[in-house]
This record gives sequence, C-alpha cells and structure tokens, in this order.
Amino acid sequence: MTARAEEHLVCSAKGCRATATRGVVWRNPRLHTPERRKVWLACPDHERHLAEFVQLRGFLLEVVDVDELGAGDG
Ligand SMILES: [Zn+2]
Repeated sequence: MTARAEEHLVCSAKGCRATATRGVVWRNPRLHTPERRKVWLACPDHERHLAEFVQLRGFLLEVVDVDELGAGDG
C-alpha cells in the first residue's frame, strides 16, 4: 500500500468523489480488536451522515481532521 500522504483523500460516501477533510474513526467490537481503528474519510457534506451512521450502531470512536489520523488508522 502507498503511504497515506501520497494518496488523494476521497470521501468514503457512496458515489462521492469530493476531497475528504475529516476522518470518522470507528470500531465494531464484534469484528475488531480493541486496538483496531477503522476510518471512513468524509468531505464536509458527508461528515455528519457518516458519523451518525456508525454512531447509531454504537461504533463511533471520534471524528478528527484527516491530518490527525495515525499511520495505523484505516
Ligand atoms: Zn462526500
């Protein structure tokens, strides 16, 4: 995989090709170990939608700026 810094960060919302500015960090406790951090990238238009989707399921950890995402996030 290429380094995150070299990627064009595209929003994770279906059909959206906008540049992502925020990362929605989440984890499904049934599938992921406690140190695991899944990230959905979000443009300003979809940040709330994506965060609410995982929050409703109790999976939301935090929402951060993309440049605050760690190397192990993904
Ligand atoms: Zn979007």
